[in-house]
Amino acid sequence: MFDVIAFDADDTLWHNESIFTMTQNKFREMLSSHGPEVVEQTLSSTQIKNLKHFGYGVKGFILSMIETSIELTNGDVSGNEIQQILDFGREMLAAPIELLPHVREVVEELSQNYHLWLITKGDLIDQETKIARSGLADYFSNVEIVSDKTIVTYTKILTQHRIEPVRFIMIGNSMRSDIVPLVQIGAHAVHIPYSSTWEHEQDHPHVDSDHYSELQHIGLLPNLILEKG
Ligand SMILES: [Mg+2]
Repeated sequence: MFDVIAFDADDTLWHNESIFTMTQNKFREMLSSHGPEVVEQTLSSTQIKNLKHFGYGVKGFILSMIETSIELTNGDVSGNEIQQILDFGREMLAAPIELLPHVREVVEELSQNYHLWLITKGDLIDQETKIARSGLADYFSNVEIVSDKTIVTYTKILTQHRIEPVRFIMIGNSMRSDIVPLVQIGAHAVHIPYSSTWEHEQDHPHVDSDHYSELQHIGLLPNLILEKG
């Protein structure tokens, strides 16, 4: 039934949002005199405003933290504090890759009968090194690192590889990025929620389609693929 099974990477195959949350906590502490909620809200709106300039990923996040610290201190943030923010970013980029439960077995099993793809958004170098460090790179016949995941992105990739949408299934944790655009172009999609998902990714239209399923964890995926096939 499927020519390709495609996976999102961050928070689908390995932990990612937890690293952002940890950094946000440190950033809130650094600016604690401004109140945690104000820091969080200012950072969040700065990030969303900056997406169209910097894209998704750690580098854009670092710039948004710097911009937030300038705004909240009315320009009085010190060089040492900016250094601290840069160090937060370096720690994020060097954080070890922690695979989610069942990921290795499932990817290994499905790779025996299917072409597996990885489709992820974020910074090019960061995503490339994460894929290499994950130990999973060899299971994927195609890796796409894209600036955003929209109907246009997916249509372009599928057309390039001459894959019919109905024979394509995408697995991911974000309704907005991994599910909604796929179902809208006639492909299949499986939502596997992560324990915490950035609110920006939760802003999506309602999905009602027999091309859409939700699983509690990725360990249940091989059975679902078998049933659909
Ligand atoms: Mg994700």
